[in-house]
Amino acid sequence: MKPVSFKYLKPTGLEEATAILAEYGAEARILAGGQSMMPMLNMRIARPSVLVDINEIVELNYIRASDGAVAIGAVTRQRRLGDDDLIAAQVPVLATALKCMSHPQIQNRGTIVGSICHGDPAAELPAVAIALGAEVTAHSQAGARTIPVADLYRGYYRTTLEPNELVSEVKFPAMPPGCGWSVVEISRRHGDLALAGVVTMIVLDGKEIGQARLACFGLGKAAHRLVEAESMLTGQLASGDLFQEVASIVSSSVKPMDDSHASAEYRRALAAELTQRSLSEAIERAKQGATS
Ligand SMILES: Cc1cc2nc3c(=O)[nH]c(=O)nc-3n(C[C@H](O)[C@H](O)[C@H](O)COP(=O)(O)OP(=O)(O)OC[C@H]3O[C@@H](n4cnc5c(N)ncnc54)[C@H](O)[C@@H]3O)c2cc1C
Repeated sequence: MKPVSFKYLKPTGLEEATAILAEYGAEARILAGGQSMMPMLNMRIARPSVLVDINEIVELNYIRASDGAVAIGAVTRQRRLGDDDLIAAQVPVLATALKCMSHPQIQNRGTIVGSICHGDPAAELPAVAIALGAEVTAHSQAGARTIPVADLYRGYYRTTLEPNELVSEVKFPAMPPGCGWSVVEISRRHGDLALAGVVTMIVLDGKEIGQARLACFGLGKAAHRLVEAESMLTGQLASGDLFQEVASIVSSSVKPMDDSHASAEYRRALAAELTQRSLSEAIERAKQGATS
């Protein structure tokens, strides 16, 4: 199929882009890397009358340190997560997530911010952003507002962004020293979107778990934090029994959906298995971090 006809606009600055969005409102859609938008246009799932291509806004192509966080601009490609020194030093979980995602050709075009704004429930980056406590900055002609990624999703592919808003950047807080992390998933083929996945970050306090942050993807209408699991882990000694107990709580608390790829019941079973794997991997990394 071919897309419906649309007006194609290519602003070169943020102000010009927000002026276009103010003029056309819900008639307009933003095009970033196009790796989700182009299929949606071709299948006529998206039928904008105006397509706002933001790729010429070169000021939004960056990865930089910003007040204890790493800020990433809206046209920065996903592949940069794999070869950037700042990412490797401060938010290495992003490079791990990239290894689970899609294919190099898609990562060469797809943007980090685009993946977060798209809000696919099975995507890795929204879950990593939520586990890290990342925030996006949304711009409109009325000004800018900051939204925690944890508050960005309000359902299946639905966000709290207004049609006249453009996300200019996402800020990932630097991971604390000694933080162990893990991103694990099951997908039918490497590079496919996940059937289910879990992200874990753990900081040890002596022998106990001082801090635990967990989020999941593919296990509900949107990526979300696993708060109950976090509180069960905090202040405890890591053990196989504890991880099993936490995994069972995660499995019974998530609300996965049935679809053509897997049943909800299978996804629940994956949630338990992946939680245990993710906790074991993160704790091993945390132990190495604690001794290095
Ligand atoms: C074969 C294939 C395999 C894939 N596998 C995976 C995978 O394993 N994991 C995964 O996470 N993804 C996967 N994807 C999706 C891919 O990573 C997309 O790149 C990503 O979901 C969207 O990023 P984009 O820059 O291409 O955004 P686009 O496709 O351009 O836009 C996506 C949506 O976000 C909105 N948007 C984009 N940028 C902004 C902005 N700055 N402000 C406000 N709204 C914005 C757009 O309007 C649109 O609604 C796959 C895609 C394909 C084709």
